[in-house]
Amino acid sequence: MTKKIAVLPGDGIGTEIVAEAVKVLEALRRDFGLNIEMEQALVGGAAYDAAGHPLPEQTLALAKAADAVLLGAVGGYKWESLDIALRPEKGLLGLRSELGLFSNLRPAILYPQLANASTLKPEVVSGLDIMIVRELTGDIYFGKPRGIRVLENGEREGFNTMVYCESEIERIGRSAFDIAMRRDKRVCSVDKANVLECTELWREVMTRVARDYPEVTLSHMYVDNAAMQLVRAPKQFDVMVTGNMFGDILSDCAAMLTGSIGMLPSASLDAFGKGMYEPIHGSAPDIAGKGIANPVATILSVAMMLRYSLNQLELAERVESAVNKVLDQGLRTADIYTPGMHKTGTAEMGDAVVNALR
Ligand code: NAD
Repeated sequence: MTKKIAVLPGDGIGTEIVAEAVKVLEALRRDFGLNIEMEQALVGGAAYDAAGHPLPEQTLALAKAADAVLLGAVGGYKWESLDIALRPEKGLLGLRSELGLFSNLRPAILYPQLANASTLKPEVVSGLDIMIVRELTGDIYFGKPRGIRVLENGEREGFNTMVYCESEIERIGRSAFDIAMRRDKRVCSVDKANVLECTELWREVMTRVARDYPEVTLSHMYVDNAAMQLVRAPKQFDVMVTGNMFGDILSDCAAMLTGSIGMLPSASLDAFGKGMYEPIHGSAPDIAGKGIANPVATILSVAMMLRYSLNQLELAERVESAVNKVLDQGLRTADIYTPGMHKTGTAEMGDAVVNALR
């Protein structure tokens, strides 16, 4: 059956990098039997300019009808003074909530060819391949009550609520264990169960979910230790699963282990395997239009789409190994360039990956 992909380039370098990812999808359709159809729509600042809203009805309808969404990035200086409800980022948040995308997959992969790009010693990070599974729709970011109130003594007090119900913990747990089954079959659940009741329940539910996955080894770690272990010995991890706030912080930390923001893909999944796939970086307005952005994070997002939404594991591996080959050939965009390598632009990098698919 033909799978539908909604293609939303967004703003800034979004249009440039998504064009390269689309080239890869076109090549897979043409030469490797991938049965897809793609349709483009506007999101973010570009959508605001054209239709007065960062997430027009038409775009949302397309995304809802699709089996997977490929997103570039949104945002830019031009729209920073808009009312918060109309800012480009609202387009992204709207998509996440309207599509029920609760499971955020953030791999931290360091290709050995780029080990020098990390601020950590090459031997600590070379070959790193971690998957952080972050719950995206709950926790202290959404919990109520929240606000700033005035106390009896006149002093102001800020407050938020960390909250997770069992079903929310269970579904993110299942998401993480399912992913681990396609990897090295190890899950580390990160919490702060020694001081927070909310995460005491998290630990209990994770332990219960683990019983349904006898092949997967579950371990638990407190978040402070997890932060330390990520920079001390990151290769000990396979899949890490955690809540929204801890995941927000740990996934950025893990991304920086690799030192190359232009290389990292991400996915946000719903309960049925539908997902939105995007690079972890933003719209990079400082380099937009120059043809120098690294398209690899977006191309690797296509690989994640093939693996997690289209069930095309072989093609996912083909895309990942094409990226590997291109790095072996010494091709580098400016963000990952080191002397002695061959500096390329966005389109040349995309073309090289397409050629390496064979
Ligand atoms: P950014 O990720 O866009 O850029 C940070 C730095 O990394 C810049 O120097 C940029 O040139 C560089 N960079 C990013 N992606 C690159 C790539 N593919 N190749 C080469 N270099 C790359 O973050 P920022 O500058 O803080 O934000 C810019 C805009 O993007 C803001 O409007 C922000 O709100 C938005 N943003 C959007 C998303 C998203 O759409 N998911 C995520 C983060 C930021």
